[in-house]
Amino acid sequence: MLPFLVGNLRVLTGGRGLRNRVVQSSEAESSGERGVPERLYAGYVFDLDGTIYLGDELLPGAERLVLKLRELEKRVIFLSNNPTKDPKMYAEKLGKLGLETPESEIVNTVVTMTQWLLQNHPDATVFPISEEPLKRALAEAGIRMSEDPEEIDIVIASYDRGFEYRKLQIAFDAIWFYGRAMLVTTNPDRYCPFPGGRGEPDAAAIVGAIEACTGAECKVNVGKPDPIMLETIMGLIGLDAEECVIAGDRLYTEIRMARDAGMPSAVVLTGETTAEELEAEAEENLPDYTLERIDQLIPPDLWEEFGWEEGA
Ligand SMILES: [Mg+2]
Repeated sequence: MLPFLVGNLRVLTGGRGLRNRVVQSSEAESSGERGVPERLYAGYVFDLDGTIYLGDELLPGAERLVLKLRELEKRVIFLSNNPTKDPKMYAEKLGKLGLETPESEIVNTVVTMTQWLLQNHPDATVFPISEEPLKRALAEAGIRMSEDPEEIDIVIASYDRGFEYRKLQIAFDAIWFYGRAMLVTTNPDRYCPFPGGRGEPDAAAIVGAIEACTGAECKVNVGKPDPIMLETIMGLIGLDAEECVIAGDRLYTEIRMARDAGMPSAVVLTGETTAEELEAEAEENLPDYTLERIDQLIPPDLWEEFGWEEGA
C-alpha cells in the first residue's frame, strides 16, 4: 500500500512534497535515518566514484545492493563522464573489484555521445577530438567521421590527451572559415581529479580553445549535469525518469541533473558531499533522499525480509 501511495504522491506533488513526506515519516518512526526511500524503483542509476567505489575499493553495501537489485530484475546502470574509457574498461574494473558487471549496464559519455548522434543527427559527418574509445564507438555505430573541414557538420570536443594544433585548425576551419559545423562536447569537466590532489586538463580545455578562436559557443553537452545524459539513458533502457532513482555523491552533478530531468535522486555521504554541507544547502539543490551508505536505497521494511543487518 505504502509504495503505491508514495509513488502517486510523487507524481502529484513533485520531489519536494515527497521528500518532506518521507523525512517526516522517517522521523516519526525514529529510525534514525533521514529520508531513505520507502519504495523500490524500476531502474537504478549509479554514479561510480564516491558512490559504488572509492579509488580501488567497493564502498560498504555496494555489492549486496547491486546483486539484490539484479535479483529483483531492476534495471541497473552505472554512469561516468569520462570519455577516455569505454564500457568494457569500466566492466573490467568493476569485475576486478568483485562486482561482475556486463558492459550493457555501463553508460559513459562515449555511449551518450554515440546515442545522442544516432537519435538526433544520424546522417551528420563528425570530427571527434577524442581518444580511441569514442572513435571506435562512433565507427561501430556507423557514424561518418572526417578530418576535412569542408564536410564536417559537428565538431566533438572531448577529453583528448593527443590534442594538438592540427586538430584545433580543423575545428577552426570547419566552424569559423566554412561556417558550417556545430560545436558539442562529451562532458563539461575542467579537469579530471587524480588521487593525491593532482589532475589532468579535461574536455572543457578543448572546448575553451575552440570557443576562443572561433567565437562559437558549445551547443550541447552529453555528460553530467546535463539532463541529456539521463534522457539518453532513459531512451536506451525504455523507462521514464519518474520510474528510476539516481544515486551519487555530488549535488552539482548527479543531483542537479536528476532534478532537471525529473528523476528522483539520492545523495550518498561516502564521497564528496558531507552532512554539514547538506545542512547548509539551499532547498532547491537538495535530493529526495539522503543515504549514509548506498544499500539504504533498499527500503527499511525489506531489510528484514532480506536478512540484512546494519553495517554488514
Ligand atoms: Mg562521484
